[in-house]
Amino acid sequence: MELPYTEPYKIKVVESLRKSTREEREKWIKEANFNLFKLKSHQVFIDLLTDSGTSAMSDLQWAEIMKGDESYAGSKSYYKLYEVIQELLDMPYFLPTHQGRAAENVLFSTMIKDGDIVPGNSHFDTTKGHIEFRKATAIDCTIDEAFETSKYHPFKGNIDLNKLEKVFKSYPKEKIPLCIITITCNTSGGQPVSMKNIKEVSALCKKYGIKIIFDAARFAENAYFIKTREPEYKNSKIKDIVKEMFSYGDGATMSSKKDGLVNIGGFIALKDKELYDKASVYNIMFEGYLTYGGMAGRDMAALAQGLMEGTEFDYLESRIGQVKYLGDKLKEYNVPIQEPTGGHAVFVDAKKFFNHIPKEQFQAQTLAIELYKEGGVRGVEIGAILADRDPATRENRYPQLELLRLAIPRRVYTNNHIKYIAVCLANIFNKRQEIKTGYKIINEAPIMRHFTVELDKI
Ligand SMILES: *Cc1c(COP(=O)(O)O)cnc(C)c1O
Repeated sequence: MELPYTEPYKIKVVESLRKSTREEREKWIKEANFNLFKLKSHQVFIDLLTDSGTSAMSDLQWAEIMKGDESYAGSKSYYKLYEVIQELLDMPYFLPTHQGRAAENVLFSTMIKDGDIVPGNSHFDTTKGHIEFRKATAIDCTIDEAFETSKYHPFKGNIDLNKLEKVFKSYPKEKIPLCIITITCNTSGGQPVSMKNIKEVSALCKKYGIKIIFDAARFAENAYFIKTREPEYKNSKIKDIVKEMFSYGDGATMSSKKDGLVNIGGFIALKDKELYDKASVYNIMFEGYLTYGGMAGRDMAALAQGLMEGTEFDYLESRIGQVKYLGDKLKEYNVPIQEPTGGHAVFVDAKKFFNHIPKEQFQAQTLAIELYKEGGVRGVEIGAILADRDPATRENRYPQLELLRLAIPRRVYTNNHIKYIAVCLANIFNKRQEIKTGYKIINEAPIMRHFTVELDKI
């Protein structure tokens, strides 16, 4: 028999989890006004709210924490991180920032102005936020297949070249400061972008004189999908794939809280000295001096180690294998999910799951609440609550998809936890007809309402 993949590590430290009863959970979720963001972490048994900043660090990373150099200027830890970014991304300039959105804030301050157009593949919320905050417009050029949940496509994060060229033809070059390639594409479900697509987008951008900036939070997971789904890269090393991907762009913004395997941090990497010099001014103003920019020396040192571990094939195989394992279990139990599963999360199709509950009663949020009550598992709604109201009409917006996102933290849970999650969802699926109604909003903020919204059962 072929040997199955296994985790390329063993457990050295454990953190206890508290099991709760259904009665306790029903009380706690009511006290939280049926908003899972308001739960205290001890009230949650398995936390799948996000994969951001929730990774488990290795013994070698903790050793780096001790070795961190806290010098204000010229820290050894900065140079350690510099060397690693050189080796992986092959970009000569880099600025540390406290997290991904800070990298966006600094870089976009130098590149984007009022009235600009920024095409890309389904821009992440903070990325879009930093574009729109500057009165510029983000245009989504993702391929149409990304929006059909049950249709298989190996690279649902790909950019549609026709849509992109249409943008280039519709606006003058001066209005398009950059094109963003998000690897993997978070918003469309952690879906990867193929090397072929990156190459083609790069050629098109060169033709029109447009810079490419990678939103690189999950670059290593993207490289894993290239290796396993794009035949010419079957025998390539992950680190070589990473280097080739970045060779087609001009720079990157990074949230180290994802593939960096650390709890906080980010950076900007650039090829161009002039752009680096301009961004440096904003980095000093918003983040901190050039050799720490919002990060402690120890955190830069742990990140340097985390980036090397996060680009090991065996690690990626077990990480993405675990996400797929959850997807496969759910399919076995007939729970409708988005396919194929992406790099960091499984998305349950709540519209299909609760097709007897009207969308006005928030199907995905209803499912998130039921999953919490069933087993203390916390996922997050990606549906009408998140979509918020139309800024002009103030009417509720109902997106095409009502999804429950189950994001898997890196190196944190075992496959027994995963099985438990799948059984919880199967139990709810089997009694779904008994759940006849959803929820209504009783209180909401004027913007970003999902964090604080208060709900009541209908
Ligand atoms: C998380 C994320 C960001 C923002 O990074 P933070 O570290 O949360 O500020 C930007 N882009 C993508 C694709 C992300 O996943």
